[in-house]
Amino acid sequence: MVRIIKLSNGETVEVECLSCEIVSGAVQPDGGVVVETEFFHAHQDVAYPIKGLVILASKRHFTTMDEMSEEEQLDYIHLLTRIRRAQREILGIENVYYFYNEDTTHHFHTWMVPRYKWMYEFGRSVESVRPVLLHARNHMNNKENVHEVKQAIQALQKALN
Ligand SMILES: [Zn+2]
Repeated sequence: MVRIIKLSNGETVEVECLSCEIVSGAVQPDGGVVVETEFFHAHQDVAYPIKGLVILASKRHFTTMDEMSEEEQLDYIHLLTRIRRAQREILGIENVYYFYNEDTTHHFHTWMVPRYKWMYEFGRSVESVRPVLLHARNHMNNKENVHEVKQAIQALQKALN
């Protein structure tokens, strides 16, 4: 099924699967690729301008944890850990919330959402994740913050490649 996607820069593109387009390089995620391996691809969705937020996506089409091959499992935990370590060492991120939902369209995605002090006013744990993301999207989408977010992506890229 072809979908029309509006990119954050205002352009629209027709895609079969947005993640496949990002993984293949046909669509450049704003801010760029953080790191990739044979099986996974990490990038930031700058629609949510939070410093150090990383989305780790499978290159292959599958949506549930138990569909990973042995090789993918090893690659996944290795890459997830490397990104996590870089978040700590480069950006000083002490805690991260991880979530993935298996009812996505095509690709297994893990969201790595850093915890910052301001987020605690939205509560703790899982109930705070959605309001935090919405707050970032609706109130932190300013030039200065987006610039900081992009600098953080570059710092992660440098550390991980
Ligand atoms: Zn795809």
